[in-house]
Amino acid sequence: MPIDTHTRSTNSVLQVLSPKENLRLSMLSEQVDLTYGDVLCEPGKTLRHVYFPNSGIISLLTPLDGHDSVEVGLVGREGMAGIGLFLGSSVSPVQMLVQGSGIATRMKAASFRNEIKRNPVLQRELNRYLYAFMAQVAQTAACNRHHLLEKRLARWLLMTHDRARSNEFHLTQEFLAHMLGVRRVGVTRAAGLLQEKNLISYRRGNITILDRKGLERASCRCYEAVNDLRDSMLN
Ligand SMILES: [Zn+2]
Repeated sequence: MPIDTHTRSTNSVLQVLSPKENLRLSMLSEQVDLTYGDVLCEPGKTLRHVYFPNSGIISLLTPLDGHDSVEVGLVGREGMAGIGLFLGSSVSPVQMLVQGSGIATRMKAASFRNEIKRNPVLQRELNRYLYAFMAQVAQTAACNRHHLLEKRLARWLLMTHDRARSNEFHLTQEFLAHMLGVRRVGVTRAAGLLQEKNLISYRRGNITILDRKGLERASCRCYEAVNDLRDSMLN
């Protein structure tokens, strides 16, 4: 649902724009609530908007014939959902599902396309974001193939924690199973192991991060690898 006020954006892509560019962008966009569980676009459907989260998390899920869909990426305030429109496609290959409630700056597809043509700063920032996002997706593909579930779960919890901006967030077992491409029983076991080590508390889908440093040590190297690449791009 659109809300009235245009608060200063905390989205990393929009933050680099000048005040003048931000003002023009705010006239072309609206602030909308992201509500946990909302589907912003289905795979194969037309992308009507792009979303720049100021808070909250959008999960990108790929459907597989005969299987549950699997999460391939996370978008928070570091980026934009609907990147296909930036690349000239108007169809979403993925489901865009709100994994964490928040607020996003939403822009209609046509306005976004026009803005991209005239705004080289936005173009540059989205190119940088796209590169980091591709690294995240590539690392995830390799991670899902080779790394232990407990380490992968620790990685996803760290990625979610970075974007949630809170030590507590809600993730159902079903959702975690989607995220990791495994059955629920595997999630229960892996979450139990992290809980036994007092790294997290997990109760009825409510996750509390108890020991962030410990969780970083419990994660596979993939979490750090993607962050290192992103940081190297900022220098
Ligand atoms: Zn990994």
